[in-house]
Amino acid sequence: MQTYSYADKGFFECIEKDKPQIQHPRDAIVKVTMASICASDIHIKHGHVSRAVQGVTVGHETVGIVEEVGGSVTNVRPGDRVTVNVETFCGECFFCKNGYVNNCTDKNGGWALGCRINGGQAEYVRVPFADTGLNKIPARVTDLQALLVGDVLATGFWATRISDITDEDTVLILGAGPTGLCTLLCTMLKKPKRIIVCETDENRIRFVNEHYPSVLTVTPEVVENFVRDVSDNGGADVVIEAAGGENTFETAWRCARPNAVVTVVALYYKPQLLPLPEMYGKNLTFKTGGVDGCDCAEILRLIERGKIDTTPLITHVFPFEKIEEAYDLFENRRDGVIKVAIKM
Ligand SMILES: [Zn+2]
Ligand SMILES: [Zn+2]
Repeated sequence: MQTYSYADKGFFECIEKDKPQIQHPRDAIVKVTMASICASDIHIKHGHVSRAVQGVTVGHETVGIVEEVGGSVTNVRPGDRVTVNVETFCGECFFCKNGYVNNCTDKNGGWALGCRINGGQAEYVRVPFADTGLNKIPARVTDLQALLVGDVLATGFWATRISDITDEDTVLILGAGPTGLCTLLCTMLKKPKRIIVCETDENRIRFVNEHYPSVLTVTPEVVENFVRDVSDNGGADVVIEAAGGENTFETAWRCARPNAVVTVVALYYKPQLLPLPEMYGKNLTFKTGGVDGCDCAEILRLIERGKIDTTPLITHVFPFEKIEEAYDLFENRRDGVIKVAIKM
């Protein structure tokens, strides 16, 4: 079968591999119908993900049809249309039982697909712990509508959930890339008093203004004053940092009012400074880290009810044969691209 794989540092290529087989009773084999490209794929390509295994099939945002299941799998059956979770998790360890599935203690726990084990930019993918790693797509939800559920939308949903947003809050979201926009969609569900999105790219600002006219937009140069002026208590009540830029962590805590929550879902290339003397007395609560993708069933229900729609974010669709072109467009942010879907 055809796969798109991490051939060498700086280099992905189409590699022919054998179709995956069930290796464990809890596995499933999924025939991929659609996969998307994530910024993390680009991080792997350039060698920024140290755990990524050379030769691995990349891709961790995938939907497909269950082809075959191991003997212990009970939640899905062959023929089911499913989303594949970016995280592999056993469902039984301490962390899984508490919803911290990113920290599952299994050797493949956390982000393994398309990084440490073969992922979904391929005709077929083997999914370990299929009962937790696959979610059935409701009949009325299309593959395109469900495509981002397993990773970037799960991240936005989780970021919003852990930020304890109330209807009195001013929420500042840093970054209007795919993660920032998914965070925005999930924040809108919480109906806070005001939402501000800070972004450098004018195409992305225009995208937010066009699609979500109730959301305020601002550029980083003026964000601190802007947030202070429009919020009720001298700063944002909740800041969600989804940008991961040079100074965006500093922007995040500076824009927060005293006693605010600052949630950091961005992935940084470099260490960030937490200048405690400067923020002494500001009494901020920081929440950090990678998604716990344990809400996919709920997210799918919200999509089914028309509460979340990520299809406008998928600006381009390519057939697998043109995956190189798709990567080039995505990586170089051409043509107003936000997300790219690869049709298998
Ligand atoms: Zn990703
Ligand atoms: Zn576990």
